[in-house]
Order: sequence, then structure tokens, then C-alpha cells
Amino acid sequence: MILEHKDDLKAFREAVRSWTHETAPPERAHEWHRSKGPELVEIQRWWLAECHKVGLAIANWPVEYGGAGLGLAHQIIIADEFARARSPGSDMFVISLNHVPGTLIPHGTEAQKKKYLPAVPAGELWCQGFSEPGAGSDLASLKTRAVRANDSGGDHYVVNGQKIWSTNSMYATQCLLLVRTDPTVKKHHGISYLIMDMNTPGVEVRPIRKSNGASNFGEIFMTDVRIPVENLIGAENNGWMVSQSTLSSERGVLSFDGAERDMIFLVDVYNQARAEGAAWLDDAELRREFITLFAEMQASRQQIRALLREPHEPGVFSMTPSLVKMARTTLNNRIGAFRVRAQGLSSQYGDHSTWRPSMYEFLETFGSTISGGSNEIQRNLISERGLGMPKG
Ligand SMILES: Cc1cc2nc3c(=O)[nH]c(=O)nc-3n(C[C@H](O)[C@H](O)[C@H](O)COP(=O)(O)OP(=O)(O)OC[C@H]3O[C@@H](n4cnc5c(N)ncnc54)[C@H](O)[C@@H]3O)c2cc1C
Repeated sequence: MILEHKDDLKAFREAVRSWTHETAPPERAHEWHRSKGPELVEIQRWWLAECHKVGLAIANWPVEYGGAGLGLAHQIIIADEFARARSPGSDMFVISLNHVPGTLIPHGTEAQKKKYLPAVPAGELWCQGFSEPGAGSDLASLKTRAVRANDSGGDHYVVNGQKIWSTNSMYATQCLLLVRTDPTVKKHHGISYLIMDMNTPGVEVRPIRKSNGASNFGEIFMTDVRIPVENLIGAENNGWMVSQSTLSSERGVLSFDGAERDMIFLVDVYNQARAEGAAWLDDAELRREFITLFAEMQASRQQIRALLREPHEPGVFSMTPSLVKMARTTLNNRIGAFRVRAQGLSSQYGDHSTWRPSMYEFLETFGSTISGGSNEIQRNLISERGLGMPKG
């Protein structure tokens, strides 16, 4: 078993490597690298289940919640080996793997932890219902209303309202939901945090089509949705405080995993270009640009390692997550633009036997400059809270 080697990092790395190559052979990588939508969800669910059999799906979670309690050194090895083997990844389960434990472990009841945490490595897909048409950067302005009622149906909230941009909500069975329970107090004080079963009557998801044709986020409409009071996370009207744990859990391992994968991807782009004798290799300017992007990607990986090593004291502001978020997302956007320019017209349709088309991926990169707090908001945080510059 792989975890038996956890005290010897070299042996641990070797065990992770050979298991990964056996379970998801790199020769099959094209199957997951070109897939999208429900097909990708099923591939990643399969991969999560395989990883869980050997203790690697939630290896960083505490032992009492089914994890292996492994630290940063092990997480780096796992991410590194998974990326090098071009394994399927688990980004469709990002909310389940990061935000759910990041919220439930500090704030959930024992019953909530017992019910929801073991379901994550078994493949339960969660979405995040925070943003609304009038509440994105100014999230505390959210209007989705929850009214407490106690009738023949038991003690529950009746929820009415609309969420938007909810990633993978069309595949999710559970939702981390922010609602307004008291509209009479200051906006940050009247918010509560609920768990919503997406199969509850009154919940309707409408996918939103993006510029690249994909629909991996959606609007969630809620009409008289009854949510049991035991699904409240934290105290009523204290949801804003709980939501800060959800948002800060985004600084988790998956961003690291993504950087490792992006690095390997750049190596593959170069190797494929050489194998095909791609025209851009004869263009000195494009070669220079590629090397610049490659070097910046290396720097970004180191920056993420530094972020993960940084002690995180609740309530103490750090600029590093904002710097990492901005650097990573703008770099990915530039890499996307480079691939489109280097491939020319074929980026529109390309050779799809290996990867999704470059133009598809390029258009996808814009979303991450907005999600998780837009880059403009990150710049405000860095300048005002990090550097103490005047507001405005
Ligand atoms: C790919 C993607 C995935 C997402 N996934 C989810 C999800 O799963 N769950 C969820 O709840 N939400 C999700 N979101 C929503 C995301 O959190 C919001 O889009 C984001 O917070 C911005 O809010 P908004 O769209 O309402 O834009 P607004 O807040 O209206 O902002 C519009 C523009 O104004 C700028 N702006 C706003 N305020 C300021 C300011 N004070 N200073 C300078 N500039 C400012 C913004 O940067 C932006 O460019 C996702 C978004 C995207 C693009």
C-alpha cells in the first residue's frame, strides 16, 4: 500500500508513480485530455474512486474525516506525479474536495460532517451558490431569501431567489448556499449558510452557454425550496463569517495541482511541435515568447509552493493568495493566446485526438480572471490592504 511508505518520501514517490502509471497509463491520457462535460465528470469520478482505494483522493484531510493527514511534502509529490503521468485530474470536483471540507470541518455539526464528508471521495459533486445577478464582487448584497417556518413539514427554511455562474451546478447533487435570513440588519449580518440538496423540489438549473460553446456553469432558480434547519452551517445570520472559510479554502492544493499540470502541458506542447515540425519553431520571436512563458510558469509554481508554506493565521491578511491568483490566471491567458497564434487557423479545429482545441482553451482562460474574486478586486486587495495605498 502506498501510505505504508509515507515516512520515506523517496519510497512514497516511487509508490505513487508506479500506481499512477498502472491505474491510468499515460498512453490513455488523450481519453481525458480531450473530454468535456458529463463525460469528463464520469472520468474524474472514476479516478477519484481509484485514488480513494489507495488513500490518495483526500490524502491531506484529517484522519478522523477519512483522510490520511498528509502534509505539504506529500501533497507536492502526489500533484507532481499525477501531473507527470498525465492522469485524469479532479478539477470538476474542486468544490467537493476543497470548499466542502474547508467549510464543514471548522463550522459544520458532527452530523453534517458524518453525512457529507465521506460522500466526497465516493464521488458526490458539489456546487457553490454564492453569486447572484446583483451580487458578485459585492457578494454581501445577495438577495436570495430564506424564511424559517415550522409546520407539518418540520422545522425548515423556505428559500426563494436566484444564483448565477454556479460552476458544474448541472451535475451537482449538493450546493453550498448563501441566503439572506434577516433583511433588516446591515448586509453582512443578515446572511446564513445552508446546504441545499439539488434534487429538492423547486430547484431548477439552467446552463449558461459560454463563448467557446461549453456550458459548465449555470443559473440556479429556487422557488419555495424547503431546506431542513439541520442543514444550517454555523449560526443563523452568521453565514458571512462561515463563507470566509469557504473562500479561503480556494488557496488549497488544487491550484498547486493545476500549476503542475500546466507545466507538463507546456512541455507536451513543445514536444508535439518538434515531432510535427511546427512552423512556429522557425520563428525566433515565437520561440522567445514560448521560453518567457515557460520561465514564468516555473516562477508561478514556486510562488504557489511559497504560498502553501506560508503560515495561515485566520483573520490576518496576506497578499500572496491575490498575487498568485492574478499571476496564474493572466499567465494562462497569455499561454492560450500564444497557442492560438502559433497554430493559426488550425487552433479553431486542430487535431482533437490529443487535446481540446487551443481556441476552446484560450476562451476558457478568461473565466478564471473573473471567478474566485476578479483580478481587479485582487489588485484592490493588494494595493489597499497589502500595501496600504489610499482607496479610490
Ligand atoms: C468561470 C467562472 C466560474 C464561476 N463560478 C462560480 C461559482 O461556482 N459559484 C459562484 O457563486 N460564483 C461563481 N462565479 C461568479 C464570480 O464569483 C463572479 O463573476 C465575480 O465575483 C464577479 O462578479 P460579477 O460577475 O457580478 O461582476 P461585478 O462584480 O458586477 O463586476 C463587473 C466588473 O467590475 C469590476 N469591479 C467590480 N467592483 C470593483 C471594484 N470595487 N474595483 C474595481 N473593479 C471592480 C469587476 O472586476 C468586473 O470586471 C464564477 C464566475 C466565472 C467567470
